[in-house]
Amino acid sequence: MTVIMDGKLLSEIIINQLKIKTGKLEKKPHLVVFLAGNNSASRIYVNNKKKKAEYIGFTLSVVELPSDISEKDFLEQIYIMNDDSNINAMLIQLPLPNNLNSQKIIESVDPIKDADGFTSYNFGWMALGYNPYAVPCTPKGIIRLLDEYKVNPEGKNVIVIGRSNIVGKPLSLMLQQRNATVTMAHSKTENLAEIASSQDIVISAIGIPNFINSKFIKKGAVVIDVGINRTEKGITGDVDFNDVKDKVSMITPVPGGVGPMTIAMLLENTFELFQIQQNFVL
Ligand code: NAD
Repeated sequence: MTVIMDGKLLSEIIINQLKIKTGKLEKKPHLVVFLAGNNSASRIYVNNKKKKAEYIGFTLSVVELPSDISEKDFLEQIYIMNDDSNINAMLIQLPLPNNLNSQKIIESVDPIKDADGFTSYNFGWMALGYNPYAVPCTPKGIIRLLDEYKVNPEGKNVIVIGRSNIVGKPLSLMLQQRNATVTMAHSKTENLAEIASSQDIVISAIGIPNFINSKFIKKGAVVIDVGINRTEKGITGDVDFNDVKDKVSMITPVPGGVGPMTIAMLLENTFELFQIQQNFVL
């Protein structure tokens, strides 16, 4: 029988554990989210994060910036937060308006306050296999889900489809550190279905609804669907769930799979950064 990997439930468990730990703190973690421009999807994501952060007992402040903000003014806001010891973590909500250089803005966040693990300091330490202050939330959430369902990637053939800096690239590195044999596929990969259909674990982060069907899947494979695609039928993943569900051993649903894990990992990263800054361990 196919196991549905319940990211919603696991994320709720993690969030409730964070709430208990936060309840014991005198000073509470403070996360700042920079929201530039008027992207309605970003606004929904930020509100979602705020609700969960406040449920835990964190402070979450949203800094709203106009879409025509200059790079200099944006950087100044971040420098102020870097110097403010009451701010423990920061997140730049992506995508940024086109006039801004996203990596330059991200790089200006002090790595010890980098809740997404996107600065080159944290990303570099992760890539080298050391312990950064924080690792990117979506890959971290996927690894946590695999652990929860006792899917050990060691020695397994794993294909990661999509090589973005926020999902596919860091995930492929994290899986290598777990001793998986990783194939990194992307839009220029030839014979993708043939390659994918020999893999033990298939992870798709491409952003094309229902692209991955049963032709891409070996019988008994584990499938992780990272895609969040807005269609006229609502939100769908990259995987044609109904087409593959009887062929796979485990699969994440969309919604309710990787998405809620990403938010839980953001909040966990915030808590961990706070702890590092306080220099104590509960
Ligand atoms: P992106 O657009 O930055 O990158 C997409 C990647 O997919 C690229 O590397 C590209 O080469 C590859 N790709 C595109 N078409 C392809 C094809 N036909 N065959 C093979 N590879 C192809 O995307 P992203 O920001 O990584 O997001 C990808 C998807 O994941 C989106 O649907 C996004 O909404 C979703 N996402 C979900 C979460 C979550 O928490 N669940 C987090 C981040 C992104």
